[in-house]
Amino acid sequence: MAFLKPIVDPEKGIKQDFSTERKSAVFLGEALKTSLRCSICSARLHRVSMHIDHSIDKKFGGLASDENANIVHPYCDSTYKEWKRAQAEASSTPEQVIE
Ligand SMILES: [Zn+2]
Repeated sequence: MAFLKPIVDPEKGIKQDFSTERKSAVFLGEALKTSLRCSICSARLHRVSMHIDHSIDKKFGGLASDENANIVHPYCDSTYKEWKRAQAEASSTPEQVIE
């Protein structure tokens, strides 16, 4: 993407002291590599917008244990997960045979 350019200007060269731009670039590079991702859609999560989801739903006996917990987007925890469940149920419904 042409509008995405590095913060650090290579024309300025590398000096002994870290510039503010280089500190920002290093921080953002590391933060993006290690950022949390949604267990459902794999997109990055924002620290103020996440839910803890039951891997095995409570209605199927899922417990509130560490092993049954996933960090997900609020949207994925509700709307998207329900849509995927409906799609799976629709595709597993036997089709009527018309003769
Ligand atoms: Zn998600």
